[in-house]
Amino acid sequence: MRASTHPDCLRVAVMAAGRPSDQAAEHVRHLIAAVAAGRCPRCGDPLGRWPASSTATPDGCVPVCIACASHEEWLAEAKEPPATPDLWPLDPDKIEH
Ligand SMILES: [Zn+2]
Repeated sequence: MRASTHPDCLRVAVMAAGRPSDQAAEHVRHLIAAVAAGRCPRCGDPLGRWPASSTATPDGCVPVCIACASHEEWLAEAKEPPATPDLWPLDPDKIEH
């Protein structure tokens, strides 16, 4: 599953949040590298054996740790703005682990 993360999906999400394309490409490389290393691209923690799908891309192609998946759900329910991938990795203190 982890290999199926789509760089294009992430790049679109990062650019939609306002990053210029050259910066977005570089940022996406870092996020993809984190996933390849088994780390959650959203917080840097280990992904664990059963990562969840981030809501950051429309097709859910980005794996995140369970804590981040819960955090995304919580933000949505609280009608808070989502933490878009241009802000990743997030400060772990802002995520309930
Ligand atoms: Zn995470």
